[in-house]
Amino acid sequence: MPQNLFGSIEKLKGVGAARGEKYRKLGITSPFELIYHIPRAYLDFGSYVPIAQAVINDHNFLKLTVLQKMRPTRIRGGLVICKALATDGTDDILIVIYNNVYSFNAIKENETYYMYGKVTGTFLRKEISAPSYIKAEENVAIQPVYHLTQGLSVNMIRTNMRQALDIMRSEPFETLSEAVRSEYGLCPLMYALENIHFPETPEAAEIARERLAFDELLKLQLGMSLIKSRSREKTAFRMDSSIGIEGFTSLLPFELTDDQRKAVDEIIADLCRSVPMNRLLQGDVGSGKTAVAAAACWFAAKNGIQSALMAPTEILAAQHFNTLSTLLEPSGIRVCLLTGSMTAKKKAELHSAIAGGEYDVIVGTHAMIQKDVEYAHLGLVITDEQHRFGVAQRAALAEKGDSPHRLVMSATPIPRTLAFIIYGDLDISVISHLPKGRKPIKTYAVTSKMRPRVFNFVREHLKNGLQAYVVCPMIEDSDSDLLAVKSYAKKAAEGDLKGCTTALLHGRMKTAEKEKIMKKFRDGEIQVLICTTVVEVGVDVPNAAVMVIENAERFGLSQLHQLRGRIGRGSAESSCILITDNTSEDCITRMKIISSSTDGFEISREDLRLRGPGDFFGSAQHGLPPLKIADIACNMELMNMAQECARKLLEADPELKAPENRALRMDTMRLFSREITV
Ligand code: ADP
Ligand code: MG
Repeated sequence: MPQNLFGSIEKLKGVGAARGEKYRKLGITSPFELIYHIPRAYLDFGSYVPIAQAVINDHNFLKLTVLQKMRPTRIRGGLVICKALATDGTDDILIVIYNNVYSFNAIKENETYYMYGKVTGTFLRKEISAPSYIKAEENVAIQPVYHLTQGLSVNMIRTNMRQALDIMRSEPFETLSEAVRSEYGLCPLMYALENIHFPETPEAAEIARERLAFDELLKLQLGMSLIKSRSREKTAFRMDSSIGIEGFTSLLPFELTDDQRKAVDEIIADLCRSVPMNRLLQGDVGSGKTAVAAAACWFAAKNGIQSALMAPTEILAAQHFNTLSTLLEPSGIRVCLLTGSMTAKKKAELHSAIAGGEYDVIVGTHAMIQKDVEYAHLGLVITDEQHRFGVAQRAALAEKGDSPHRLVMSATPIPRTLAFIIYGDLDISVISHLPKGRKPIKTYAVTSKMRPRVFNFVREHLKNGLQAYVVCPMIEDSDSDLLAVKSYAKKAAEGDLKGCTTALLHGRMKTAEKEKIMKKFRDGEIQVLICTTVVEVGVDVPNAAVMVIENAERFGLSQLHQLRGRIGRGSAESSCILITDNTSEDCITRMKIISSSTDGFEISREDLRLRGPGDFFGSAQHGLPPLKIADIACNMELMNMAQECARKLLEADPELKAPENRALRMDTMRLFSREITV
């Protein structure tokens, strides 16, 4: 492989420190990464329409000859407007370009261009604003559309892309053997990379995309297999089904819902088999997954088996510890909490007690998977809010036991195919209905002008003995105009919420402090918790019935749904109020969706749709490396092919150490650079 392919992006001609910085903003640091900056779509300039047929207020392709360029004019605020008159023979149109003299200068009078942009105006006088364009005689009818950043144009990217591809072409490398390529009908890598960026036909782009998507799915499969513990074939501890679960259900302050009961039964059946369980418990926020996990822990403990429950935050771990110890200790089950912020002395004590088998259920954060933690007889591992953990962390917990049974819990609906990649061959239990008696949460989006009324509304609820959350996006003040929780809390306590008990909670506070405040809030001593998204996952205080979210535009749909899931957990009617002054189309759409739906599955679907295929795998959602090309939901067939190919490759060469697999192994490692450390 040519070395400078992995050197700094500044090595390319014409890329200096300034442009290099812009590339870095896009996550591109080397020519290689530039090559993998895959177009998100293509403009097919070949399909242009006559001006007379352009759809007004929509994007159109036109073929225009520039008649006359006018002098750029500067208006207030330093904005520069450039205009040119153009024609296509059927009609005239005004080209308008804002603040981009560079782009305007590149247009020449009497030249013909393919242009793509939004057309506005009336049938008498039309304008096309800020169009993308290429010269008509340049023999490319198809132009890629890239994610751009301010000051980095398509044309610059195209120039640098050619240079990067030249470097690669000087010593082309290939990750798939000829045999594999012909078996799955895939083009060579070099062809794929050239044609994804500079296709001559839509078909060539498609062939390229298929190869690159296959590569990505294959690497995903290989990476997951290399990470996964190899203990799947072993036998797990087989539990005794005659113990039953009634001893547990009689401890609960409520009756399990039908869905919970079914999930518990499925889990118990798995635990009584000798093959390790590998099950996903999927249920919307507030559906009661914790009670199901508690049932599993109870059953394991009655079988003399240790369980571990890992949560992504200390607040959540502490809460689970509270819930589980209250529920389980009456039947003699010993529960402990192990988190990273405990003192070394406390941890050492816990470590020896856990290794000595003094605890049946260990609740904690990733502190429980550290090297020095040993378990006496760990047979069941549960990961809550699984998407918060990386694949490697989940695997590390499972490796602590002797091929333990595994349960992962999540509120994020994951497409079946994706679940398969993340967890391998797994079973799914679904809780589709919330416990009875819940009233649907009412959600409203308002502007900041309404804030005084919002606080009146909050105070009304406090008077009735209920509690509230106020969520801000930031901790400290910064240059941005986002609300910071520290100063906000102070202001609210002296102003809008004067006379109410309020408290501040954010991620940078000491753990002991956080726990103290959560406890007070849970006990009702604090009426309003003014916080950041530290409360986003799992927090369960049923008496809290109002949530105000400031700068709501800052949050994605799924995140808003998770946050809102903190309320609507008790019998009181709950309300969520989103405050935003953002009037972008995108924000308005999100506010509409979240206000009109409380169904996590529907919201997640909309979220994926809005974020687009480029971000389909928002890695935060699944703990997987972000994919750029493949869209698993739509690529089922390709997925199956990649899966089969991965299996065959690993059968022949389990660690991909053979010379012909070296490039593939390296490429896989690169995709999983955060996960695999070898
Ligand atoms: P999640 O699925 O989001 O983790 P939790 O396990 O935190 O949900 O449960 C949400 C709330 O619902 C908790 O207060 C819990 O005590 C309550 N709950 C769970 N199951 C039931 C049930 N069957 N009937 C009534 N309340 C329940
Ligand atoms: Mg939960």
